[in-house]
Amino acid sequence: MTLREQLVEVGRRLQAARHVTATEGNLSVRLDENRVLITPSGREKGSLSSEDMVVIDLEGRTESGAEPSSERHVHLETYKTRTDVQAVIHAHPRYSTGWAMARRALPWQTHPEVVVVLGQVALVPYLTPSTRELGQAVAEALGSCNACLMANHGAVAVGATLQEAFQRMEILESFAHSAMVATALGGPVALDADELAQLP
Ligand code: 13P
Ligand code: ZN
Repeated sequence: MTLREQLVEVGRRLQAARHVTATEGNLSVRLDENRVLITPSGREKGSLSSEDMVVIDLEGRTESGAEPSSERHVHLETYKTRTDVQAVIHAHPRYSTGWAMARRALPWQTHPEVVVVLGQVALVPYLTPSTRELGQAVAEALGSCNACLMANHGAVAVGATLQEAFQRMEILESFAHSAMVATALGGPVALDADELAQLP
């Protein structure tokens, strides 16, 4: 599958899983050292075709295609900071976004898989959507982990492949749901230092 086809496929899966509604969300893959393939702005990400994808450089200049995602700074600043990252996904999954709207950080130390697969899930303070400042803050937060929440907005997940970034978004959202249930049941319990040290 080409990178363009992978963006089409994962866009469909994001919409099917209802991690995005209407024209929400955006996704991208790294093409080479200086170029990124990203979804166009203002379109339903579950209804895109290969030719709709936009090529931009790391400074955000469009090389070919329509208007790139308004959230391109989140993607570009992350690629600049994390040279290992090949794919970035931004979505508005309901439970993750609920935590972000409450400006409450997810209790990531309460689930072994989250600790191992995502690491710390940072809560980035509120910054105006689409700004470079938001992109820089997200890139800083993702310096040491693979997913974060943006206050009053949504979630970002990264990976070595688009598939991996999607799986991390799925794990994040599933965990956000479970954490809400645990909160209703009196509060999730964090793993202690010994328990954390024994994780692979
Ligand atoms: P775009 O359609 O411009 O990518 O924007 C969607 C979004 O989620 C903005 O935060
Ligand atoms: Zn958004």
